[in-house]
Amino acid sequence: ASLDALVQEALTTGRIAGLPGGHFVDGRFQPSHSGARMDSFDPGRGTAFASFAAGDTADVDAAVEAGRRALKGRWRDLKPAERGRILQRAAALIGENAERLAVVESLDSGKKLVEALGDVRGAARTFEYYAGACDKLHGDTMPLGRDHFGMTVHEPVGVTAHIIPWNYPISTTARGLAPALAAGCAVVAKPAEQTPFTALMLADILHQAGLPDGVCNVVTGTGREAGAPLVSHTGIDQITFTGSVATGIGVMQAAAPNVTQLVLELGGKSPVVVFADCNIEAALSGMMEAIYENAGQICSAGSRLVIEKSLSETFLAHLTERVCALTLGHGLTNPGMGPVNSAAQLAKIEGMVASAVERGAKLHTGGARAEGGALGQGWFYQPTIIEPSSSSDAIVQEEVFGPVLTVQPFESEEEALALANGTSYGLVAGIYTADFGRAHRLARDIDAGQVFINEYFAGGIEMPFGGNRKSGFGREKGLDGLKNYTRVKSIAARISG
Ligand code: NAD
Repeated sequence: ASLDALVQEALTTGRIAGLPGGHFVDGRFQPSHSGARMDSFDPGRGTAFASFAAGDTADVDAAVEAGRRALKGRWRDLKPAERGRILQRAAALIGENAERLAVVESLDSGKKLVEALGDVRGAARTFEYYAGACDKLHGDTMPLGRDHFGMTVHEPVGVTAHIIPWNYPISTTARGLAPALAAGCAVVAKPAEQTPFTALMLADILHQAGLPDGVCNVVTGTGREAGAPLVSHTGIDQITFTGSVATGIGVMQAAAPNVTQLVLELGGKSPVVVFADCNIEAALSGMMEAIYENAGQICSAGSRLVIEKSLSETFLAHLTERVCALTLGHGLTNPGMGPVNSAAQLAKIEGMVASAVERGAKLHTGGARAEGGALGQGWFYQPTIIEPSSSSDAIVQEEVFGPVLTVQPFESEEEALALANGTSYGLVAGIYTADFGRAHRLARDIDAGQVFINEYFAGGIEMPFGGNRKSGFGREKGLDGLKNYTRVKSIAARISG
Protein backbone atom coordinates (compact mmCIF):
# COMPACT_ATOMS: atom_id res chain seq x y z
CA ALA A 1 0.00 0.00 0.00
CA SER A 2 1.17 3.56 -0.68
CA LEU A 3 1.98 5.93 2.14
CA ASP A 4 -1.24 7.88 1.54
CA ALA A 5 -3.35 4.72 1.63
CA LEU A 6 -1.68 3.58 4.87
CA VAL A 7 -2.23 6.98 6.48
CA GLN A 8 -5.86 7.10 5.32
CA GLU A 9 -6.51 3.61 6.69
CA ALA A 10 -5.01 4.54 10.05
CA LEU A 11 -6.83 7.87 10.24
CA THR A 12 -10.25 6.62 9.19
CA THR A 13 -10.33 3.27 10.98
CA GLY A 14 -8.01 4.23 13.85
CA ARG A 15 -6.17 0.93 13.23
CA ILE A 16 -3.45 -0.69 11.13
CA ALA A 17 -4.01 -4.20 9.82
CA GLY A 18 -1.43 -6.96 10.30
CA LEU A 19 0.49 -5.68 13.32
CA PRO A 20 2.64 -8.28 15.10
CA GLY A 21 0.85 -9.52 18.19
CA GLY A 22 3.35 -11.76 19.97
CA HIS A 23 6.89 -11.66 21.31
CA PHE A 24 9.60 -12.37 18.75
CA VAL A 25 11.55 -15.26 20.25
CA ASP A 26 13.77 -17.85 18.57
CA GLY A 27 12.92 -16.66 15.07
CA ARG A 28 9.11 -16.50 15.31
CA PHE A 29 6.24 -14.63 16.89
CA GLN A 30 4.97 -16.33 20.02
CA PRO A 31 2.20 -15.53 22.52
CA SER A 32 3.00 -14.91 26.19
CA HIS A 33 3.27 -18.04 28.34
CA SER A 34 0.53 -16.56 30.51
CA GLY A 35 -1.63 -15.57 27.52
CA ALA A 36 -1.79 -12.00 28.90
CA ARG A 37 -2.14 -9.02 26.56
CA MET A 38 -2.26 -5.28 26.94
CA ASP A 39 -3.36 -2.28 24.85
CA SER A 40 -1.32 0.29 23.00
CA PHE A 41 -2.79 3.78 22.58
CA ASP A 42 -2.97 6.34 19.79
CA PRO A 43 -1.88 9.56 21.55
CA GLY A 44 -3.53 11.72 18.87
CA ARG A 45 -6.92 10.26 19.78
CA GLY A 46 -6.37 9.08 23.34
CA THR A 47 -7.81 5.65 22.54
CA ALA A 48 -6.44 2.09 22.27
CA PHE A 49 -5.69 1.02 18.68
CA ALA A 50 -4.09 -2.42 19.09
CA SER A 51 -3.06 -4.98 21.67
CA PHE A 52 0.18 -6.85 22.18
CA ALA A 53 1.61 -9.65 24.32
CA ALA A 54 2.27 -8.75 27.97
CA GLY A 55 5.37 -10.74 28.85
CA ASP A 56 6.76 -11.81 32.20
CA THR A 57 9.62 -13.86 33.62
CA ALA A 58 8.71 -16.99 31.64
CA ASP A 59 8.85 -15.13 28.33
CA VAL A 60 12.09 -13.38 29.29
CA ASP A 61 13.63 -16.75 30.24
CA ALA A 62 12.65 -18.21 26.86
CA ALA A 63 14.16 -15.22 25.03
CA VAL A 64 17.43 -15.30 26.99
CA GLU A 65 17.74 -19.07 26.50
CA ALA A 66 17.14 -18.63 22.75
CA GLY A 67 19.89 -16.00 22.73
CA ARG A 68 22.33 -18.25 24.60
CA ARG A 69 21.68 -21.16 22.23
CA ALA A 70 22.10 -18.88 19.22
CA LEU A 71 25.47 -17.63 20.51
CA LYS A 72 26.90 -21.16 20.29
CA GLY A 73 25.27 -21.96 16.96
CA ARG A 74 25.61 -20.83 13.35
CA TRP A 75 25.94 -17.17 14.40
CA ARG A 76 29.32 -17.81 16.02
CA ASP A 77 30.63 -19.65 12.98
CA LEU A 78 29.49 -17.10 10.43
CA LYS A 79 32.33 -15.12 8.88
CA PRO A 80 32.27 -11.45 10.01
CA ALA A 81 31.82 -10.30 6.42
CA GLU A 82 28.71 -12.48 6.14
CA ARG A 83 27.41 -10.95 9.38
CA GLY A 84 27.91 -7.58 7.72
CA ARG A 85 25.94 -8.67 4.63
CA ILE A 86 23.00 -9.67 6.82
CA LEU A 87 23.01 -6.26 8.50
CA GLN A 88 23.33 -4.58 5.10
CA ARG A 89 20.29 -6.53 3.85
CA ALA A 90 18.43 -5.50 7.01
CA ALA A 91 19.24 -1.84 6.22
CA ALA A 92 17.81 -2.28 2.72
CA LEU A 93 14.68 -4.01 4.04
CA ILE A 94 14.09 -1.24 6.59
CA GLY A 95 14.27 1.19 3.67
CA GLU A 96 11.82 -0.89 1.61
CA ASN A 97 9.38 -1.01 4.54
CA ALA A 98 10.03 2.58 5.65
CA GLU A 99 6.55 3.91 4.98
CA ARG A 100 4.70 1.18 6.86
CA LEU A 101 7.19 1.34 9.74
CA ALA A 102 6.79 5.12 9.92
CA VAL A 103 2.99 5.01 9.95
CA VAL A 104 3.07 2.45 12.77
CA GLU A 105 5.66 4.50 14.67
CA SER A 106 3.64 7.70 14.27
CA LEU A 107 0.36 6.12 15.34
CA ASP A 108 1.94 4.35 18.32
CA SER A 109 4.10 7.21 19.66
CA GLY A 110 2.12 10.25 18.48
CA LYS A 111 5.09 11.74 16.65
CA LYS A 112 4.64 13.52 13.33
CA LEU A 113 4.79 11.24 10.31
CA VAL A 114 7.71 13.19 8.80
CA GLU A 115 9.67 12.73 12.02
CA ALA A 116 8.81 9.04 12.08
CA LEU A 117 10.01 8.68 8.49
CA GLY A 118 13.25 10.38 9.48
CA ASP A 119 13.64 8.00 12.43
CA VAL A 120 13.07 4.96 10.21
CA ARG A 121 15.57 6.17 7.61
CA GLY A 122 17.98 6.82 10.46
CA ALA A 123 17.48 3.23 11.66
CA ALA A 124 18.34 1.95 8.17
CA ARG A 125 21.44 4.14 8.15
CA THR A 126 22.42 2.76 11.58
CA PHE A 127 22.40 -0.79 10.25
CA GLU A 128 24.29 0.30 7.14
CA TYR A 129 26.93 2.01 9.29
CA TYR A 130 27.54 -0.94 11.62
CA ALA A 131 27.32 -3.49 8.78
CA GLY A 132 30.63 -2.09 7.58
CA ALA A 133 32.24 -2.57 10.99
CA CYS A 134 31.70 -6.34 11.32
CA ASP A 135 34.96 -7.32 9.60
CA LYS A 136 37.04 -4.53 11.15
CA LEU A 137 36.89 -5.44 14.83
CA HIS A 138 40.54 -6.34 15.02
CA GLY A 139 42.86 -6.41 18.01
CA ASP A 140 46.51 -5.46 18.39
CA THR A 141 49.84 -7.14 18.81
CA MET A 142 52.11 -6.13 21.67
CA PRO A 143 55.91 -6.10 21.59
CA LEU A 144 57.02 -8.40 24.45
CA GLY A 145 60.56 -9.16 23.26
CA ARG A 146 61.86 -12.08 21.24
CA ASP A 147 60.70 -14.81 23.62
CA HIS A 148 57.04 -13.89 23.79
CA PHE A 149 54.16 -12.98 21.57
CA GLY A 150 51.25 -10.83 22.74
CA MET A 151 47.96 -10.04 21.08
CA THR A 152 44.43 -8.91 21.83
CA VAL A 153 41.20 -10.16 20.31
CA HIS A 154 37.82 -8.44 20.49
CA GLU A 155 35.13 -10.95 21.45
CA PRO A 156 31.37 -10.41 21.53
CA VAL A 157 30.27 -9.87 25.17
CA GLY A 158 27.51 -12.47 24.80
CA VAL A 159 23.76 -11.95 25.14
CA THR A 160 22.88 -8.27 25.51
CA ALA A 161 19.68 -6.72 26.90
CA HIS A 162 18.23 -3.52 25.44
CA ILE A 163 15.60 -1.55 27.35
CA ILE A 164 13.93 0.95 25.04
CA PRO A 165 11.91 4.12 25.84
CA TRP A 166 8.76 5.30 24.01
CA ASN A 167 10.01 8.57 22.55
CA TYR A 168 12.33 7.10 19.87
CA PRO A 169 11.28 3.46 19.65
CA ILE A 170 12.83 2.34 16.36
CA SER A 171 15.86 4.66 16.58
CA THR A 172 16.82 3.50 20.06
CA THR A 173 16.26 -0.15 19.16
CA ALA A 174 18.46 0.19 16.07
CA ARG A 175 21.10 2.16 17.95
CA GLY A 176 21.59 -0.73 20.37
CA LEU A 177 20.89 -3.77 18.22
CA ALA A 178 22.99 -2.85 15.16
CA PRO A 179 26.35 -2.57 16.99
CA ALA A 180 25.55 -5.52 19.26
CA LEU A 181 24.82 -7.74 16.25
CA ALA A 182 27.82 -6.34 14.36
CA ALA A 183 30.00 -7.41 17.30
CA GLY A 184 28.56 -10.94 17.13
CA CYS A 185 26.29 -10.76 20.18
CA ALA A 186 22.77 -12.16 20.49
CA VAL A 187 20.18 -9.67 21.76
CA VAL A 188 16.99 -9.45 23.77
CA ALA A 189 15.13 -6.14 23.46
CA LYS A 190 12.30 -4.91 25.68
CA PRO A 191 10.51 -1.97 24.04
CA ALA A 192 8.46 0.45 26.12
CA GLU A 193 4.91 -0.72 26.80
CA GLN A 194 3.62 2.49 25.18
CA THR A 195 5.31 1.74 21.84
CA PRO A 196 5.97 -1.99 21.26
CA PHE A 197 5.40 -2.45 17.54
CA THR A 198 8.35 -1.19 15.52
CA ALA A 199 10.86 -3.18 17.61
CA LEU A 200 8.87 -6.33 16.80
CA MET A 201 8.75 -5.40 13.12
CA LEU A 202 12.49 -4.75 13.16
CA ALA A 203 13.18 -8.20 14.66
CA ASP A 204 11.10 -9.76 11.88
CA ILE A 205 13.03 -7.77 9.26
CA LEU A 206 16.36 -8.90 10.71
CA HIS A 207 15.15 -12.48 10.53
CA GLN A 208 14.12 -11.98 6.89
CA ALA A 209 17.57 -10.54 6.23
CA GLY A 210 19.11 -13.84 7.29
CA LEU A 211 19.75 -13.57 11.02
CA PRO A 212 19.72 -17.10 12.50
CA ASP A 213 16.91 -18.02 14.90
CA GLY A 214 17.39 -16.76 18.45
CA VAL A 215 19.99 -14.09 17.62
CA CYS A 216 17.45 -11.27 17.92
CA ASN A 217 14.59 -11.56 20.39
CA VAL A 218 12.01 -9.00 21.46
CA VAL A 219 9.87 -9.40 24.57
CA THR A 220 7.05 -6.88 25.04
CA GLY A 221 5.38 -5.89 28.30
CA THR A 222 5.75 -3.53 31.22
CA GLY A 223 8.98 -2.51 32.90
CA ARG A 224 8.05 -4.27 36.10
CA GLU A 225 6.85 -7.55 34.56
CA ALA A 226 9.19 -7.89 31.56
CA GLY A 227 12.00 -5.33 32.02
CA ALA A 228 12.95 -6.20 35.59
CA PRO A 229 13.43 -9.98 35.02
CA LEU A 230 15.52 -9.20 31.93
CA VAL A 231 18.00 -6.82 33.60
CA SER A 232 18.46 -9.13 36.61
CA HIS A 233 18.83 -12.28 34.48
CA THR A 234 22.01 -14.30 35.03
CA GLY A 235 22.03 -15.17 31.30
CA ILE A 236 22.49 -11.51 30.32
CA ASP A 237 26.08 -10.29 29.83
CA GLN A 238 25.49 -6.61 29.14
CA ILE A 239 22.61 -4.12 29.44
CA THR A 240 21.95 -0.98 27.43
CA PHE A 241 19.25 0.97 29.23
CA THR A 242 17.65 4.11 27.80
CA GLY A 243 15.06 5.81 29.96
CA SER A 244 14.58 7.92 33.05
CA VAL A 245 17.12 8.50 35.82
CA ALA A 246 14.96 6.83 38.47
CA THR A 247 14.50 3.65 36.45
CA GLY A 248 18.17 3.70 35.42
CA ILE A 249 19.24 3.69 39.07
CA GLY A 250 16.99 0.68 39.64
CA VAL A 251 18.48 -1.10 36.64
CA MET A 252 21.99 -0.44 37.92
CA GLN A 253 21.02 -1.97 41.26
CA ALA A 254 19.40 -4.96 39.55
CA ALA A 255 22.56 -5.51 37.50
CA ALA A 256 24.90 -5.29 40.51
CA PRO A 257 24.45 -8.79 42.01
CA ASN A 258 25.43 -10.39 38.68
CA VAL A 259 28.13 -7.74 38.06
CA THR A 260 26.55 -7.17 34.63
CA GLN A 261 28.18 -4.36 32.70
CA LEU A 262 25.88 -1.62 31.49
CA VAL A 263 25.36 1.58 29.57
CA LEU A 264 22.89 4.10 30.97
CA GLU A 265 21.36 6.64 28.58
CA LEU A 266 19.24 8.79 30.88
CA GLY A 267 17.54 12.15 30.82
CA GLY A 268 18.74 15.67 30.20
CA LYS A 269 18.09 19.35 30.76
CA SER A 270 20.22 20.63 27.95
CA PRO A 271 21.08 24.32 27.52
CA VAL A 272 21.09 26.20 24.22
CA VAL A 273 23.45 29.12 24.75
CA VAL A 274 22.68 32.00 22.38
CA PHE A 275 25.06 34.98 22.10
CA ALA A 276 24.06 38.35 20.65
CA ASP A 277 26.54 37.96 17.77
CA CYS A 278 24.94 34.75 16.46
CA ASN A 279 23.10 34.17 13.21
CA ILE A 280 19.66 34.86 14.64
CA GLU A 281 17.75 32.97 11.97
CA ALA A 282 19.88 29.85 12.59
CA ALA A 283 19.41 30.17 16.36
CA LEU A 284 15.64 30.62 16.04
CA SER A 285 15.11 27.62 13.80
CA GLY A 286 17.56 25.58 15.90
CA MET A 287 15.63 26.50 19.04
CA MET A 288 12.29 25.51 17.48
CA GLU A 289 13.70 22.11 16.56
CA ALA A 290 15.54 21.66 19.85
CA ILE A 291 12.44 21.88 22.03
CA TYR A 292 9.31 21.46 19.88
CA GLU A 293 10.33 18.47 17.73
CA ASN A 294 8.57 15.36 19.02
CA ALA A 295 6.66 17.72 21.35
CA GLY A 296 9.84 18.13 23.40
CA GLN A 297 9.96 14.46 24.33
CA ILE A 298 13.63 14.10 23.45
CA CYS A 299 16.31 13.18 25.96
CA SER A 300 18.63 15.62 24.21
CA ALA A 301 15.98 18.36 23.80
CA GLY A 302 17.35 21.87 24.19
CA SER A 303 14.97 22.69 27.02
CA ARG A 304 16.82 25.70 28.46
CA LEU A 305 17.40 28.85 26.42
CA VAL A 306 20.43 30.57 27.95
CA ILE A 307 20.47 33.93 26.19
CA GLU A 308 22.61 37.07 26.20
CA LYS A 309 20.57 39.86 27.76
CA SER A 310 21.09 42.36 24.95
CA LEU A 311 19.42 39.97 22.47
CA SER A 312 16.85 38.52 24.82
CA GLU A 313 13.85 40.75 24.10
CA THR A 314 14.14 40.62 20.28
CA PHE A 315 14.87 36.91 20.25
CA LEU A 316 11.95 36.03 22.51
CA ALA A 317 9.59 38.16 20.44
CA HIS A 318 10.55 36.28 17.24
CA LEU A 319 10.52 32.91 19.00
CA THR A 320 7.10 33.51 20.56
CA GLU A 321 5.72 34.46 17.16
CA ARG A 322 6.94 31.16 15.68
CA VAL A 323 5.68 29.16 18.63
CA CYS A 324 2.22 30.73 18.36
CA ALA A 325 2.12 29.77 14.69
CA LEU A 326 2.62 26.05 15.44
CA THR A 327 -0.53 24.08 14.62
CA LEU A 328 -1.33 21.06 16.78
CA GLY A 329 -2.84 17.88 15.42
CA HIS A 330 -2.68 14.12 15.05
CA GLY A 331 0.84 13.00 14.18
CA LEU A 332 -0.28 11.30 10.97
CA THR A 333 -1.60 14.63 9.62
CA ASN A 334 1.89 16.18 9.89
CA PRO A 335 0.93 19.16 12.05
CA GLY A 336 3.39 21.73 13.38
CA MET A 337 3.52 19.71 16.59
CA GLY A 338 1.93 16.40 17.61
CA PRO A 339 0.49 15.18 20.91
CA VAL A 340 2.50 14.03 23.89
CA ASN A 341 2.74 10.29 24.34
CA SER A 342 0.39 9.53 27.21
CA ALA A 343 -2.17 10.89 29.63
CA ALA A 344 0.39 10.43 32.41
CA GLN A 345 2.99 12.47 30.51
CA LEU A 346 0.43 15.21 29.87
CA ALA A 347 -0.49 15.36 33.55
CA LYS A 348 3.20 15.52 34.52
CA ILE A 349 3.91 18.43 32.16
CA GLU A 350 0.80 20.27 33.30
CA GLY A 351 1.70 19.84 36.97
CA MET A 352 5.32 20.99 36.55
CA VAL A 353 4.39 24.15 34.65
CA ALA A 354 1.49 25.03 36.99
CA SER A 355 3.63 24.74 40.09
CA ALA A 356 6.45 26.80 38.51
CA VAL A 357 3.88 29.53 37.78
CA GLU A 358 2.70 29.32 41.40
CA ARG A 359 6.31 29.92 42.46
CA GLY A 360 6.44 33.10 40.36
CA ALA A 361 7.50 31.97 36.87
CA LYS A 362 6.30 34.14 33.98
CA LEU A 363 4.69 32.56 30.92
CA HIS A 364 5.69 34.07 27.57
CA THR A 365 3.31 31.74 25.77
CA GLY A 366 1.49 28.42 26.33
CA GLY A 367 1.19 26.87 29.76
CA ALA A 368 -1.97 24.77 29.33
CA ARG A 369 -3.50 21.71 27.70
CA ALA A 370 -4.57 22.22 24.10
CA GLU A 371 -7.10 21.02 21.60
CA GLY A 372 -5.61 18.71 19.03
CA GLY A 373 -7.82 18.85 16.02
CA ALA A 374 -10.93 16.94 15.12
CA LEU A 375 -10.03 13.35 15.88
CA GLY A 376 -10.92 13.04 19.54
CA GLN A 377 -9.51 13.47 23.01
CA GLY A 378 -5.82 13.37 22.18
CA TRP A 379 -3.10 14.30 24.66
CA PHE A 380 -1.99 17.77 23.61
CA TYR A 381 -0.05 20.45 25.44
CA GLN A 382 0.56 23.97 24.17
CA PRO A 383 4.13 24.77 23.12
CA THR A 384 5.34 26.80 26.05
CA ILE A 385 8.02 29.37 26.90
CA ILE A 386 8.46 30.12 30.59
CA GLU A 387 10.79 32.42 32.50
CA PRO A 388 11.44 30.86 35.91
CA SER A 389 11.51 32.71 39.20
CA SER A 390 15.11 31.52 39.69
CA SER A 391 17.68 29.19 38.14
CA SER A 392 17.32 26.86 41.10
CA ASP A 393 13.59 26.39 40.44
CA ALA A 394 12.44 22.84 39.62
CA ILE A 395 11.29 23.90 36.15
CA VAL A 396 14.96 24.66 35.32
CA GLN A 397 16.49 21.78 37.25
CA GLU A 398 14.18 18.88 36.38
CA GLU A 399 13.43 17.29 33.03
CA VAL A 400 9.86 18.12 31.89
CA PHE A 401 9.98 15.92 28.78
CA GLY A 402 7.44 18.05 26.98
CA PRO A 403 7.26 21.21 24.79
CA VAL A 404 8.37 23.52 27.58
CA LEU A 405 11.31 25.91 27.16
CA THR A 406 12.76 27.83 30.09
CA VAL A 407 14.59 31.15 29.62
CA GLN A 408 17.74 32.19 31.52
CA PRO A 409 19.40 35.50 30.55
CA PHE A 410 23.14 36.15 31.03
CA GLU A 411 25.54 39.06 30.68
CA SER A 412 28.99 37.47 30.40
CA GLU A 413 30.57 34.33 28.96
CA GLU A 414 31.38 33.16 32.51
CA GLU A 415 27.77 33.54 33.54
CA ALA A 416 26.63 31.69 30.41
CA LEU A 417 28.95 28.80 31.27
CA ALA A 418 27.78 28.68 34.88
CA LEU A 419 24.14 28.57 33.79
CA ALA A 420 24.87 25.94 31.11
CA ASN A 421 26.54 23.71 33.72
CA GLY A 422 24.02 24.59 36.42
CA THR A 423 21.97 21.37 36.58
CA SER A 424 22.77 17.80 37.62
CA TYR A 425 22.44 16.61 34.00
CA GLY A 426 25.10 16.61 31.30
CA LEU A 427 23.76 15.20 28.06
CA VAL A 428 23.93 17.87 25.35
CA ALA A 429 24.57 21.59 24.91
CA GLY A 430 23.97 23.92 21.98
CA ILE A 431 26.01 27.07 21.32
CA TYR A 432 25.10 29.84 18.87
CA THR A 433 27.80 32.45 18.26
CA ALA A 434 29.87 33.87 15.41
CA ASP A 435 32.96 33.87 17.64
CA PHE A 436 34.91 30.70 16.87
CA GLY A 437 37.17 30.97 19.90
CA ARG A 438 34.27 31.49 22.28
CA ALA A 439 32.35 28.56 20.79
CA HIS A 440 35.32 26.29 21.39
CA ARG A 441 36.07 27.63 24.87
CA LEU A 442 32.51 26.79 25.86
CA ALA A 443 32.59 23.44 24.06
CA ARG A 444 35.69 22.63 26.12
CA ASP A 445 34.24 23.74 29.46
CA ILE A 446 30.64 22.56 29.18
CA ASP A 447 30.08 19.34 31.09
CA ALA A 448 28.07 17.36 28.55
CA GLY A 449 28.53 14.33 26.36
CA GLN A 450 27.99 16.27 23.14
CA VAL A 451 28.10 19.89 22.05
CA PHE A 452 26.41 21.32 18.96
CA ILE A 453 27.86 24.54 17.55
CA ASN A 454 25.57 26.69 15.39
CA GLU A 455 23.28 23.76 14.53
CA TYR A 456 21.35 21.85 17.17
CA PHE A 457 21.22 18.07 16.50
CA ALA A 458 24.09 18.33 13.99
CA GLY A 459 25.80 15.06 13.09
CA GLY A 460 24.61 11.50 12.60
CA ILE A 461 25.30 7.91 13.55
CA GLU A 462 29.06 8.59 13.18
CA MET A 463 29.07 10.78 16.30
CA PRO A 464 29.24 9.10 19.73
CA PHE A 465 26.33 9.95 22.02
CA GLY A 466 25.87 9.69 25.77
CA GLY A 467 25.70 11.54 29.02
CA ASN A 468 27.77 12.84 31.91
CA ARG A 469 26.65 13.04 35.54
CA LYS A 470 22.96 12.10 35.98
CA SER A 471 22.51 11.78 32.24
CA GLY A 472 24.28 8.44 32.54
CA PHE A 473 27.51 6.85 31.35
CA GLY A 474 28.84 5.00 28.36
CA ARG A 475 28.59 6.05 24.72
CA GLU A 476 26.41 4.75 21.93
CA LYS A 477 26.70 5.47 18.20
CA GLY A 478 29.95 5.84 16.29
CA LEU A 479 32.77 3.35 16.62
CA ASP A 480 32.73 3.96 20.39
CA GLY A 481 29.28 2.37 20.44
CA LEU A 482 30.79 -0.95 19.37
CA LYS A 483 32.89 -1.10 22.52
CA ASN A 484 29.77 -1.77 24.60
CA TYR A 485 29.38 -5.06 22.82
CA THR A 486 32.95 -6.34 22.55
CA ARG A 487 35.43 -7.21 25.23
CA VAL A 488 39.13 -7.45 24.94
CA LYS A 489 40.96 -10.69 25.63
CA SER A 490 44.73 -10.54 25.78
CA ILE A 491 46.71 -13.61 24.89
CA ALA A 492 50.41 -13.77 25.72
CA ALA A 493 52.55 -16.73 24.74
CA ARG A 494 56.12 -17.85 25.31
CA ILE A 495 57.43 -18.80 21.90
CA SER A 496 61.01 -19.82 22.61
CA GLY A 497 63.04 -21.80 25.15
P1 NAD B 1 11.22 4.86 31.89
O1 NAD B 1 12.48 4.82 32.64
O2 NAD B 1 9.94 4.92 32.61
O3 NAD B 1 11.09 3.60 30.93
C1 NAD B 1 12.10 3.25 30.01
C2 NAD B 1 12.05 1.76 29.77
O4 NAD B 1 12.39 1.09 30.96
C3 NAD B 1 10.70 1.21 29.34
O5 NAD B 1 10.89 0.18 28.38
C4 NAD B 1 10.19 0.61 30.64
O6 NAD B 1 9.25 -0.42 30.43
C5 NAD B 1 11.46 0.07 31.22
N1 NAD B 1 11.42 -0.17 32.67
C6 NAD B 1 10.65 0.44 33.61
N2 NAD B 1 10.92 -0.07 34.82
C7 NAD B 1 11.87 -1.02 34.66
C8 NAD B 1 12.56 -1.89 35.54
N3 NAD B 1 12.33 -1.88 36.84
N4 NAD B 1 13.48 -2.72 35.02
C9 NAD B 1 13.75 -2.72 33.71
N5 NAD B 1 13.13 -1.94 32.82
C10 NAD B 1 12.19 -1.09 33.28
O7 NAD B 1 11.41 6.08 30.92
P2 NAD B 1 10.34 6.68 29.93
O8 NAD B 1 9.47 7.60 30.70
O9 NAD B 1 9.69 5.60 29.12
O10 NAD B 1 11.27 7.48 28.93
C11 NAD B 1 11.55 8.82 29.12
C12 NAD B 1 12.92 9.00 29.72
O11 NAD B 1 13.90 8.40 28.90
C13 NAD B 1 13.30 10.44 29.82
O12 NAD B 1 13.89 10.71 31.07
C14 NAD B 1 14.33 10.61 28.72
O13 NAD B 1 15.24 11.65 28.91
C15 NAD B 1 14.98 9.30 28.69
N6 NAD B 1 15.61 9.06 27.39
C16 NAD B 1 16.98 9.09 27.29
C17 NAD B 1 17.59 8.92 26.07
C18 NAD B 1 19.08 8.96 25.94
O14 NAD B 1 19.60 8.51 24.93
N7 NAD B 1 19.83 9.48 26.89
C19 NAD B 1 16.83 8.68 24.92
C20 NAD B 1 15.44 8.65 25.06
C21 NAD B 1 14.84 8.83 26.31
